[in-house]
Amino acid sequence: MSIPFVEPFRIKVVEPIKHTTRPERESILAFAYNNLFGVPAEDVFIDFLSDSGTNAMSDRQWSAMMVGDEAYGGARSFTHFEAAVREVLGFPCVLPTHQGRGAEGILFKTLVKPGQSVPNNRHFDTTQANLLALNANPVDLAVDEASDPHSLLPFKGNMDLGKLERFIDQTGVENIPIGMLTVTNNSAAGQPVSMANIKATSELYRRYGIPFFLDACRFSENAWFIKQREPGYADRPVAEIALEMFSYADGCTMSAKKDAIVNMGGFIACRDEDLKQKLAQHLIIQEGFITYGGLTGRDLEAIAVGLHEGISEDYLDYRERHTRYLGEVLQSAGLQVYQPTGGHAVYVDAAHTLPHIPPAQFPGVALANQLYIEGGVRTVEIGSLMFSHPDPLTGEVIPAPNEMVRFAIPRRVYTRSHLDYVGEVAREVVKNAADLRGLEITWAPELLRHFIARLAWV
Ligand SMILES: *Cc1c(COP(=O)(O)O)cnc(C)c1O
Repeated sequence: MSIPFVEPFRIKVVEPIKHTTRPERESILAFAYNNLFGVPAEDVFIDFLSDSGTNAMSDRQWSAMMVGDEAYGGARSFTHFEAAVREVLGFPCVLPTHQGRGAEGILFKTLVKPGQSVPNNRHFDTTQANLLALNANPVDLAVDEASDPHSLLPFKGNMDLGKLERFIDQTGVENIPIGMLTVTNNSAAGQPVSMANIKATSELYRRYGIPFFLDACRFSENAWFIKQREPGYADRPVAEIALEMFSYADGCTMSAKKDAIVNMGGFIACRDEDLKQKLAQHLIIQEGFITYGGLTGRDLEAIAVGLHEGISEDYLDYRERHTRYLGEVLQSAGLQVYQPTGGHAVYVDAAHTLPHIPPAQFPGVALANQLYIEGGVRTVEIGSLMFSHPDPLTGEVIPAPNEMVRFAIPRRVYTRSHLDYVGEVAREVVKNAADLRGLEITWAPELLRHFIARLAWV
């Protein structure tokens, strides 16, 4: 018998969630200026706002936390954390940070000067914003298929190597202090990057002498997809595949809130001791001393255990099937699901469901808001509100590549019947899609506006 799709864990602690009425949700959303980030979590029934830090930790992680060493310098917990990073990722040097964006901020502050460019398959919102805040230029060079929600290709997160080489030639290596690659490609529907593409991207950056860093938030899901989809990897353990992925990079930034299955934390890892010393100077000013970097000893313990649990193949098999199942449920509810579904989330095409709402009126926000009103399901727009921004060099508005809504799935939190419920809510929303209106911004900050923008229905 093949292994069925069933949760490879049982539930030891439960957290009640609360139903609200539709009129209650309407007024809650209005009170939050029609921005789902502002809705109190206790007024959400199923929360797919983010898979970041929303994970259920295991009994082993919780018990590791009890032995956390809270010493200021040289805590034993740091040694455990460092050993896990060496074992699972293979990098000898590591600096903890409070979360992924702390790692990015420090890396970019250390290496990137105003006016310089950083290429990536696709920057996530925080890497984009960290660079824009330095007056540097985040450049997205993913393969064209990344923006195509229909083609069933195995590695739509890949870097377009032709575009990358042309970009480097036109921009000049002196203007590219670092090159990135994001695995999986969160901004492109969580699509994986193939080992061949990681290797070729690394070779290209190396040829030009550009340091190569992975944005490694979902490296274990990426390694799992390589095992499933890339010729030659089916019989290799995920742990080995992950190590090979990292072997091509000079370092990585990591949000432990993703594939290290914790609630808070991140790190920068690298090979070069000199670079570590340079990074450490910014780290100490901003995050904390080099053996805690804004985290408690117990956080470091939970990450050390979580890094190992995150590459468990039973877990990853369930994770992929769970996500794919939500994709099937939403597709049969009538939403247009980005294919194939990625590792951590299902992305649906809001422009397809709401063709009457133009990008400037945020069809993704309209769809996400209606999912909340209909059934207390919280998702997030990944479209014009999140990504459209003025080019830092020309001032011209760069449009978002798609108008998506992301259903990001917290790890080990929701069962299959939760997913079925979400399907029923989606079906109701699709039924009444023609009546939905768009939204307009009434106030927004300059950077990362989607988090706190205020909106009104048009
Ligand atoms: C979440 C995420 C980040 C930022 O990490 P935080 O812990 O949220 O600061 C960076 N890159 C990618 C691809 C992410 O998904």
